[in-house]
Amino acid sequence: MDTKRVYYFGNKQADGNGKMKNLLGGKGAGLAEMNLVGIPVPPGFTITADVCSEYYTMGQEQVVELINKDVVNGIHRIENVMNTKFGSDENPCLVSVRSGARVSMPGMMDTVLNLGLNDVAVLGLVKKTGNERFAWDSYRRFIQMYADVVLGMKPENKDDIDPFEEIINGIKKEKNIDEDINLSVDDLKELVVRFKKVVKDKLNKEFPQDPWDQLWGAIMAVFDSWNNERAVYYRRMNKIPDEWGTAVSVMAMVFGNMGDTSGTGVAFTRNAATGENVFNGEYLINAQGEDVVAGIRTPQEITKAGSIDWAKLHNISEEERQKKYPSLEEYMPEVYKDLFDVQEKLENHFRDMQDLEFTIQEGKLWLLQTRTGKRTGAAMVKIAMDILDEGKIDKKEALMRIEPNKLDELLHPVFDKEAIKSAQTLVKGLPASPGAATGQIVFFADDAVEWAQQGKNVILVRIETSPEDLAGMDSAKGILTARGGMTSHAAVVARGMGKCCITGAGGMTINYKTRQIEVAGKTIKEGDWISINGSTGEVYEGKTKTINPELSGYFERIMELSDTFAKLDVRTNADTPKDAQVARDFGAKGIGLCRTEHMFFDEERIIAVREMILSDDEAGRRAALDKLLPMQRGDFEGIFEAMHDLPVTVRLLDPPLHEFLPHEDENQKEMADEMGISLEKVKEKVEALSELNPMLGHRGCRLGNTYPEITEMQSRAIIEAALNLKKKGINAKPEIMVPLTGTKEEMKLQEKIVRDTAQKVFEEYGDTIDYLVGTMIEIPRAALTADEIAKHAEFFSFGTNDLTQMTFGYSRDDAGKFLPVYLKKGILKNDPFEVLDQVGVGQLVEMGTRKGRQTKPNLKVGICGEHGGEPSSIEFCHKVGMNYVSCSPFRVPIARVSAAIANIKYAQETVNV
Ligand code: ADP
Ligand code: MG
Ligand code: MG
Repeated sequence: MDTKRVYYFGNKQADGNGKMKNLLGGKGAGLAEMNLVGIPVPPGFTITADVCSEYYTMGQEQVVELINKDVVNGIHRIENVMNTKFGSDENPCLVSVRSGARVSMPGMMDTVLNLGLNDVAVLGLVKKTGNERFAWDSYRRFIQMYADVVLGMKPENKDDIDPFEEIINGIKKEKNIDEDINLSVDDLKELVVRFKKVVKDKLNKEFPQDPWDQLWGAIMAVFDSWNNERAVYYRRMNKIPDEWGTAVSVMAMVFGNMGDTSGTGVAFTRNAATGENVFNGEYLINAQGEDVVAGIRTPQEITKAGSIDWAKLHNISEEERQKKYPSLEEYMPEVYKDLFDVQEKLENHFRDMQDLEFTIQEGKLWLLQTRTGKRTGAAMVKIAMDILDEGKIDKKEALMRIEPNKLDELLHPVFDKEAIKSAQTLVKGLPASPGAATGQIVFFADDAVEWAQQGKNVILVRIETSPEDLAGMDSAKGILTARGGMTSHAAVVARGMGKCCITGAGGMTINYKTRQIEVAGKTIKEGDWISINGSTGEVYEGKTKTINPELSGYFERIMELSDTFAKLDVRTNADTPKDAQVARDFGAKGIGLCRTEHMFFDEERIIAVREMILSDDEAGRRAALDKLLPMQRGDFEGIFEAMHDLPVTVRLLDPPLHEFLPHEDENQKEMADEMGISLEKVKEKVEALSELNPMLGHRGCRLGNTYPEITEMQSRAIIEAALNLKKKGINAKPEIMVPLTGTKEEMKLQEKIVRDTAQKVFEEYGDTIDYLVGTMIEIPRAALTADEIAKHAEFFSFGTNDLTQMTFGYSRDDAGKFLPVYLKKGILKNDPFEVLDQVGVGQLVEMGTRKGRQTKPNLKVGICGEHGGEPSSIEFCHKVGMNYVSCSPFRVPIARVSAAIANIKYAQETVNV
C-alpha cells in the first residue's frame, strides 16, 4: 500500500498544495500553499482526513501503526529545521496539534498548543529564551489545555466548576492579585504543581511527561473532536457530511507571548461584513493563539485608519489611542509592511478574500493560517463582483462564488430610519455582522434555544461567546457581546450564519448571576426587549420597527448575470396580487403555482363554499358556485394584471373538502340559517363528509371529477378574467392546472371540462385568448404513467411536497414526531420535504419528465413544491431538463442564482451567453 497519509511542509516546500482541501483540510492545504508561494510558515506536517476516517473504522492502534513512521519522521524534520529536540532540556521542540476539515468550522474542533513541554523541557525553554516567566506561563497553559482537550477535563456545562480556573482564582486570592499578568514566576511554578496535582487527583494518573505520548494523545483527541457535540451541530446546520473527517496539522510553535516585540493577530484582506476592499484586522501584543478571538482582552486594530475609526466609535481620544491602543502600523511599522505584503500576495494568489492568522515572535512575522474568509451575504456579492471587475476572475467564477442561500440575508428587513430617530440608544459596540434584530434578552445559549422553541424572538447577550454557544446563537435573532472585536468568535460565527451581531459593547456590564445588564444608568433584565443594529453597532432599548431593505447595484448585477447563464426560468408560488408583485420585482418570470383555495377562506366566501359542499344536489352546488364566480374572477383579474405578459399557472381546487367544513357549533348554526335547514341536518352532513384520511381522500381532481361544476366554474372565472383584461389591453397568459392526477382518465375528463367551458366563454365573448391545460405530477402513479397522462396535458408541474409524502409514505403533518430523530440518528441525511430526495423521489421526477416528453416532445415541465427554492434541488431540476422552477417570492433571487450555477456546473452547451 502506497497511500500517502502524512504530508510535510516547511522551508518553502510542501508535499501538498492549496487545492488539496479534501485531503489536507482547509488549514493543511493553506499551510502547504503558503510555503509554496514563499510565505514564512513554521514547519510541520498534515495527517490526512482519510486517516480520520480510518481511525473511526479501525481504531487507534491500527491507525498509529499506519502512520507511526511518518509522524516520527515528521517530528524529526521539524526538529531539523528548527534546530530543536523533542523533550530537550536545552532547546525543546514544541508543536501545536491542530484540527482542520475541508471546509472551515471555526472553533468547532480542538487544537493543542505548546505540546512537548514537561518538567524538563520547561527548563530548556528557560535556558533557550532566558525568559523564565514566558516558559512557565507556557507550561501552565499547556497543562490546562491538554487536560481539557485530551484528558477530558473540560467542564461540560455552565454550572460545572473548571478546576483550573478555580486554582488560578485561589492563587490570585492568596496573593491578592487581580490579573493573570501580575502572577510572578513563582506563582506560575506553583500553578504548574497544583495543575498536575489536580490532574492526578481526578484521573488517577500522572500528567504525561513523554512528548510522544502527549503527541499521540493530542492527535487522537483531534480526531475525536470531529464528533464532539458542537462540531456535530455545526455540520447539521451547514449540511456538512459526517464522513469527511478532519485532518490534523502538527507544526512548530512560534511564540507571540515572548514580550513586547511579540504578538498575535487575525486579519482579513477585505472587510468581511461589507465587502469593502480594505485590509483590516486585530492584534494583541504579548499574547498567544486564541487570545484575540476569545475576546478576553480588547484587541487593537492593525491599520492606522482602522484604529482611528475604532477609537471614534469608543469615544477614545487620539492621544489615548496612540498611547494605549496604537495600530500595528504605528507600533511595528516593519512587521506591518511585511504583513501587508503577505496579505496582498495571498489575496492575489487565491483571488478571493482571505482570513489570516499570524504571530509575531520577537519582531519576526509568521503566518499560521490562511483560508477563504467567511463573509456576510452583502460582502459575498460585493467581493465577487469587485474581483470580477478587477479582472481576476471571469463571470462564471464570480457566480460560482455566490452561495445562493446567503442571498437571503440581503432580503431581510432593516430598521426604519424614522423609527430609529426616536429610539433610545443604550450603548454602541462594533458593527460585527449587519442586519436588524429585535428581541427579548437571554444570557445563556440553552435559554436562547428554549425560548426560541416557544416561539419567542430572542437576542443572545453575552460577555463573549464560545463555540459551546453555537446552538443558542443559531436560535437567536441577533447576538450582542460586551467584549471582543470584529474577529472575535461571536463576530466570525454570526457573519457565517448571516445573523445580526454587535461585539465589544463595553459600555454595558453583564451580570450572569442576576441576569441583568447595567447600561446607560439603567438596569435591563432577562426578557426585556432590545433592538440591535449590526450595521452601525447601535443597541436600542425596546422594540424598533423594521422595513424591507433596498437592494444594491451589486445585487442587481448578480441577478442579471445569473439570467444570462441560467437555462431554467424561475417562477413564483403566489396566491395574491401583492405576492405576485413582490416576486415580479425579484425577477420571477411567471407564477408556477397559484392556489385557488386560499381565495375560498375569505370570511364572506367561506359561507358560499360551505353551502356548495353541503348541498344535496348539483342544483344546490351550482347556486353556491354562482355566488363564488364573480369573486374568483376578480381574484384572477388582480393576479393576471400583476403578472401581465407572464404565464400564470392556476391550480384548480385541491384540498380535502373537510378543511372547509364548519366544525364549531357557532359556524354550524350560521350555516343552518344561511341554508334554511336545521342545525341537526348540518351536523349530520358534516359527519357524513368526515374522512379517516383526508390527505388521501376526496380532494384534488377527485373533486372536479365528482363535481364537474366546480372545475367548470373555476375555468370560467379564469377565462373570463383573461378576456376582461384583454379588453383593457392587458395580456394574460393562464395555464390551468389539474391537481392530484393519478390516471389518464381523470385527466382526460378534466381537460374536456376545461376546454368545453373555455369554448363556451369564447363564444359568449366573441373573442379568444391563448391558454394551456396541464397537470401536477404528485402521485407516484402519475409519474409512472406520465406518457399516458401527457396525451391530455400541455404541461407538467411536479408537486414534490405531495410526491415526497406519497413516495416515502410520510405524512408531512405528522413527520415532526419522527423526522428529527431520523435526522439525528442519520437514518435520513436531510429532511426530504426541504431537500429533494434525488435518489428516490428524484427517479419519479426524472421518469415523469422523460415519459411525458416521449409523448409530447415540447411538454413544458416545472416544479412547484417547496424544493423549487432549494439550491441542490434546483440543480437536480436543471439536470432533469425542466423548463422552470417555482418558489416562494423571497426565494426567487436564490433560485435565479442557483439556476445559473447549475448550468455552469452541468451544461455542455451554454445558453444565452
Ligand atoms: P481554529 O481552527 O479553532 O482557529 P487553530 O488550529 O487555528 O484553531 O489554532 C488556534 C489558535 O492557536 C490560533 O490563533 C492559531 O493561530 C494558534 N496557533 C496554532 N498553531 C500555532 C503555532 N504553531 N504557533 C503559534 N500559534 C499557533
Ligand atoms: Mg484558526
Ligand atoms: Mg399537492
